[in-house]
Amino acid sequence: MDHGLRRDRALGLVSELRLDALLVTHLPNVRYLTGFGGSSGHLVLGPGAAVLVVDGRYTHQASREAPGVEVRTSLGGLVEPAVEIAAALGSRVGFEREAVSFGAWERLRAAGERLDLVPTDGVIELLREGKDEEERALITVAQEAADTAFEAVVLGGGLRTGISERQAALDLEVAMRRAGAHAPAFESIVAFGENAAEPHHEPTARELRAGDLVKVDFGAEVDGYRSDMTRTVAFGEPSRRSREIYEVVVAAQSAGVDAVRAGVAASDVDAAARRVITEAGLGEAFVHPVGHGVGLEIHESPIMRSTTGTELRAGAVVTVEPGVYLPGVGGVRIEDLVVVRNGGVDVLTSVTKDLVTVS
Ligand code: ZN
Ligand code: ZN
Repeated sequence: MDHGLRRDRALGLVSELRLDALLVTHLPNVRYLTGFGGSSGHLVLGPGAAVLVVDGRYTHQASREAPGVEVRTSLGGLVEPAVEIAAALGSRVGFEREAVSFGAWERLRAAGERLDLVPTDGVIELLREGKDEEERALITVAQEAADTAFEAVVLGGGLRTGISERQAALDLEVAMRRAGAHAPAFESIVAFGENAAEPHHEPTARELRAGDLVKVDFGAEVDGYRSDMTRTVAFGEPSRRSREIYEVVVAAQSAGVDAVRAGVAASDVDAAARRVITEAGLGEAFVHPVGHGVGLEIHESPIMRSTTGTELRAGAVVTVEPGVYLPGVGGVRIEDLVVVRNGGVDVLTSVTKDLVTVS
């Protein structure tokens, strides 16, 4: 990956904001700009300078993963040395508003009392929206590992009466790693029956019974890049109501995917899927945005909600995932990962969206 090119682009934005330096503390942004994947590090970026401040655990790793970047080790905190490096570049220093805790802000203000500290919003996140070919390739490999795991575990006989949600989640994660995942992309969601009414249900000891809908939402991580998919299947014969809800969600999901192309407002994608669910009388049961960007983070820009007016960019990777959730009854969500193209999308998720009955 060409991290130097990314830093050059970031520097263009830094100079547009008339900053002398930008202090990058959001770790996915640090990784995007340097390649460094450790759990602690601050990057100072300015004209002719890219300095990564890490603690002693990461000196060696940072030097290896971030060639072309000067690595400095701090035995104390990271904020103070980073501010000192930034101050040498000029007095107008930007920082990432959403990535600074109150404690860090106090230290930043104390160390930079002679500086003009400028809060910035989503500068690097905007760059990250348009994925390059290497990024899309890693996301594709991650999605393939998840597809393989879904086929092996959910469609391949891994669901049986009495298995718990936790066990099914573990089985999916093991299958994903066997298929090449470095790790799960996030805490896998497995929800049986009434638990599927919670959009982000945490797996429990609830055992699988005939007649349950089974909602699984999970993904793989490969070299820092993530995938995200949801499928809902029936375990044993589903009720008529379950079938009806499923048909509404699958139609809404297709309408959402059909609405995605470069230049369309993110809110239009949400509206396209929401219209189908609302017309079926279930509008109040679709309680979250239709989708989100996926990359180094599982939820990243653009978040595709009804109020997001920004246009989708060619090359972005986003989810389309409408759902219907009925408390006490159950729920259905279907989620594909797609690449935004000029005339439409490439769908990365390969598993069928027909209602599959397993037993
Ligand atoms: Zn998901
Ligand atoms: Zn998602």
